[in-house]
Amino acid sequence: MSDSGTSGVAKRQLSTNDQVLAGLCCYERELKLVMTSKAAKTRLKPTRFLVQEHHARQLHYDFRLEVAGVLKSWALPKGPSLDPADKRLAVMVDDHPLEYFAFEGIIPVGQYGAGAVVVWDQGQYDLLEGDDPLEALNGGKVVIELHGETLRGGFVLIKMKGRGEKNWLLIKKKDGHGRAGWTLSPALTKEKEAALKEKTPPCKAH
Ligand code: MN
Repeated sequence: MSDSGTSGVAKRQLSTNDQVLAGLCCYERELKLVMTSKAAKTRLKPTRFLVQEHHARQLHYDFRLEVAGVLKSWALPKGPSLDPADKRLAVMVDDHPLEYFAFEGIIPVGQYGAGAVVVWDQGQYDLLEGDDPLEALNGGKVVIELHGETLRGGFVLIKMKGRGEKNWLLIKKKDGHGRAGWTLSPALTKEKEAALKEKTPPCKAH
């Protein structure tokens, strides 16, 4: 590879990292600056995903993908679906810190996102197209395979055209894990809710 080609790659990585940092919240920012600089030197490896059920003023499901040391996050009013016929609106929200993986509890009244948060599903994910999740995100299309308890198989996250920067769709790909007519079962039972403690999240909770 020529010298000019190498510097072109370096520039592109710097600009994608700048975009990641711009979306960061709270005290995580400085820490992630160090982490993403390190990550940029090696291949950015996709790992975990998380879906939280969030009983805020409007019940929704937060779909989060670990990318370059943060959780890229989308709020889904209807949650994800295993039915390939469902196109679920996924509104991109601020990046969240990785500490959200451990977060379950009731966000106190008066705080942003007040209400119960429980893990609905989690596991590992792989990219099915391309090898850089940041590049895929910037291109408006992320094709992934989820290895969760409930969400399994291929999914596409695709940015809606002409609907601004925030509106994406999450769609199940047609494969052996698709389930026609599938309906979502909420994770928060009465028993579960009774056991939850009031807790302030590690960052403003979208
Ligand atoms: Mn939320």
